[in-house]
Amino acid sequence: MSSNYDYDVLYLGGGHAAFDGAGPLAAVGKKVAVIEGGLWGGTCPNRGCNAKITLDAPVVLQRLAERMQGIVSSDIKINWSQLVMHKQEVIEKLPTNIAAGLTNAGVKLIHGYGKFKDKHTILVDNVAYTAEKIVIATGLRPNRLNIPGNELAHTSDDFMKLEQLPKRIAIIGSGYISMEFATIANAVGAEVTIFMHHNVALRNFYQPFVQQVVADMQKRGISFVQEANIKSFKKVADKLSIQYGNEQVKTVDWILDATGRIANVENLNLAEIGIKYTKKGITVNQYLQTNIENIYAAGDVLDKLQPKLTPTATFESYYLYKLFSEQTADPITYPAIPSTVYTSPRIAKVGLSPDSKDAKDMRLVHNKIPNDWYRQIDKQTTGESILIFDEKEHLVGATEFSEQAEDAINTLLPAVVFNYTKEQMWQLAHIFPSISASAWHKIR
Ligand SMILES: Cc1cc2nc3c(=O)[nH]c(=O)nc-3n(C[C@H](O)[C@H](O)[C@H](O)COP(=O)(O)OP(=O)(O)OC[C@H]3O[C@@H](n4cnc5c(N)ncnc54)[C@H](O)[C@@H]3O)c2cc1C
Repeated sequence: MSSNYDYDVLYLGGGHAAFDGAGPLAAVGKKVAVIEGGLWGGTCPNRGCNAKITLDAPVVLQRLAERMQGIVSSDIKINWSQLVMHKQEVIEKLPTNIAAGLTNAGVKLIHGYGKFKDKHTILVDNVAYTAEKIVIATGLRPNRLNIPGNELAHTSDDFMKLEQLPKRIAIIGSGYISMEFATIANAVGAEVTIFMHHNVALRNFYQPFVQQVVADMQKRGISFVQEANIKSFKKVADKLSIQYGNEQVKTVDWILDATGRIANVENLNLAEIGIKYTKKGITVNQYLQTNIENIYAAGDVLDKLQPKLTPTATFESYYLYKLFSEQTADPITYPAIPSTVYTSPRIAKVGLSPDSKDAKDMRLVHNKIPNDWYRQIDKQTTGESILIFDEKEHLVGATEFSEQAEDAINTLLPAVVFNYTKEQMWQLAHIFPSISASAWHKIR
């Protein structure tokens, strides 16, 4: 431990970007502290991934029962208030468990919002904590449209806490949070309208697959308004009205502003101590180091090309653990990071996209999911995948839309990340029957 400071490493923010590396770092003998102003664990467990996927579980069951009608006969209705209570039960112990895991590893937990006093000192409620190295891991918060009446709109955090699901819901934006929450709300029975900024939903995903998912959502009653040009929100009696487009008006009961997430870089005194950042987040070099030598940043708060998702935050946190414990001196090298949209069907991908320039001269294999006997067992009638092989027959990209796309892509991940040869692929004997066996059958 450095004798001049309270801690070797001090993390500002207690999400995945901090706690995944803080625990291991304390376990190897470094003096570590984490400062968190909200709930331990940050966005993902409390108001992101874990919470959302719990709300999605009955949608999956509903879709399964729908496909199997005739073999099963029950009409699955989702009780929203029971579902929200269930979600709360699933997630409520997570912050305590995460905090306990950190404490047991030897990490000191400091509760409160911190800001820089100088480059080695963070103030929390006027108490100073010093450290040799500081990691900024303050994440993102929901964007709010800058229009009249924006205070009438809600965030994804609010959606997941609703005790009753409003009848008519407007969702502004068509990124992954919008599409997932629209899917859930529609399955529960709400009338959902998605107002799009342009005319492309999920622009980071392979559009021919996105269009099929959008068509399915439309068939189920979700409306899409393209190039909506939202002008204002107004309260009219107990309803809300949305002014958009060319003098158009839509009346709804509830509005979700899902127009993106912005970096938590304010109120930290970053400018005062000279840390560089853009509106996309904090600027770092290949060691996740800011322009101030002893200050690093990790997770969603970074200005970076990689997807702002939990696996990225975890990877960065683990990288800093290795760097700070002198197990590596190398710059960070990101693996292919997979991502999914939990619509129903889902869209998932890893590595090269079929429409990327690099994939142009490669071998692309198109598969129709319903042709696979394993996907016939629960009567999957839609879905496609595209696998991309380089000239040495390494799998370098895979994208799929289907009911189990996230599992299919996850199982292919090692082949993409470790560049498996055909010989190595045959070394893996998957449990049969399973989604892994089904997905691997297509790449060997
Ligand atoms: C609705 C939703 C669904 C999502 N679904 C998925 C998914 O399915 N899969 C996936 O991979 N990712 C998902 N994500 C993204 C995922 O949650 C984030 O990528 C991940 O949480 C990033 O971790 P982080 O540690 O960088 O930031 P966060 O988890 O946001 O942690 C930052 C923490 O810093 C704290 N903080 C901020 N300022 C201060 C301060 N000054 N002092 C002290 N503490 C401070 C905040 O309170 C927060 O707890 C979802 C996000 C949302 C919103």
